[in-house]
Amino acid sequence: MKDILIVGFGLAGLAVAHHAEELGLRFNILNDNAQRSSRVAGGLLNPIAIKRMKPVWNLEEFLPYAKSYYNQLQDKFSAEIFEDKIIKAFIHNTYSENNWHQALDKVRMKAHISKSVYANHDASINTKRFGEVFAAQINLSQLFTAAEKYYDERQSYIKEKCIHDEIMVSDSSVSYHNCSYRHVIFCEGYGIINNPYFNNLGIYGNKGDYLVIKSSELNSLEILKSKYFLIPLGNNLYKFGATYQRQPLNHEPSSDARDEMVEALKKMISVPFEVVDQVCGIRPTTKDRKPILGTHHDYKVLHILNGFGSRGVITSPLLGRQLVDHVFKSKELSKEISINRVYAQL
Ligand SMILES: Cc1cc2nc3c(=O)[nH]c(=O)nc-3n(C[C@H](O)[C@H](O)[C@H](O)COP(=O)(O)OP(=O)(O)OC[C@H]3O[C@@H](n4cnc5c(N)ncnc54)[C@H](O)[C@@H]3O)c2cc1C
Repeated sequence: MKDILIVGFGLAGLAVAHHAEELGLRFNILNDNAQRSSRVAGGLLNPIAIKRMKPVWNLEEFLPYAKSYYNQLQDKFSAEIFEDKIIKAFIHNTYSENNWHQALDKVRMKAHISKSVYANHDASINTKRFGEVFAAQINLSQLFTAAEKYYDERQSYIKEKCIHDEIMVSDSSVSYHNCSYRHVIFCEGYGIINNPYFNNLGIYGNKGDYLVIKSSELNSLEILKSKYFLIPLGNNLYKFGATYQRQPLNHEPSSDARDEMVEALKKMISVPFEVVDQVCGIRPTTKDRKPILGTHHDYKVLHILNGFGSRGVITSPLLGRQLVDHVFKSKELSKEISINRVYAQL
């Protein structure tokens, strides 16, 4: 018997696998890649909600843990995936500039932003001034390529859809396709809507589209942020986005999103560009914007890690650890992330 069946291998499934391995647990991963959120995401480890000039939720716990986690993964998978990055946030007017200076008075903000705003001297970028946010970027496509290979080589990665109806659940174990497990941890992202055990938690989708553009006259090595992020990929390519759309929740790139982003980019830069690709994914989002972790109220061997919304890069490392500790060391989960807050409302 193995310890865990991990269903889904996005940021959530990866965090569970890594922490389970640290505890010496044995597991299999089932992943069908039907959801793309973790693979298309910008990979930004951004401490600040720039529009509101506020620190992200629980920053002081999540950020140092996430940085150390991605550095560990870099060594474990022998892949260059972590890079410190500056985000140049456009300062359009005096109001934004005042907000920046006010943020500098706040203890939780000042380590993460530049002490002043600067004049822009790059004619290809349409802002007079910008401030700097000290962030990092995870190369998610390289991370998942390396991680899948790593677990595949250890015979624990299975590229296959989990059919929920074929999971046989008993009080103390689960069997699935002739294999027995002590626990199942569902890390299915928006795919949770098809899971009969956990599709009543109000997790909903929020679709995001990114454009990939090419511009030989733009020479920014830093990430730029106006309405959207412009993220350098190398070889004159940049990722631009991402949008937020509640409907339609499919995996087809949206032409409306594309038109909106093209218009926004024309306002942001003054050099020609060409759209070379468009990718999209569905963010698994919750009503109170907090992730959902914990154990099924009837089946004590079934667990969930989900609801990362637009912040999975920074939150999934520590929350993956907390869920594994909850399942295998009986550590309590805090109320604001526990599934019990949702059950209490049902
Ligand atoms: C366009 C876009 C940009 C984003 N940018 C950022 C960013 O810069 N920074 C940030 O922090 N966050 C960002 N996010 C959010 C982030 O991507 C999500 O929070 C995170 O990826 C969610 O991870 P997850 O593992 O819960 O879900 P997913 O990434 O959706 O992974 C779930 C996995 O489970 C698999 N699965 C589901 N059901 C089954 C089944 N029955 N059997 C087998 N496999 C199954 C899916 O195919 C998928 O591989 C972005 C999201 C989008 C869409």
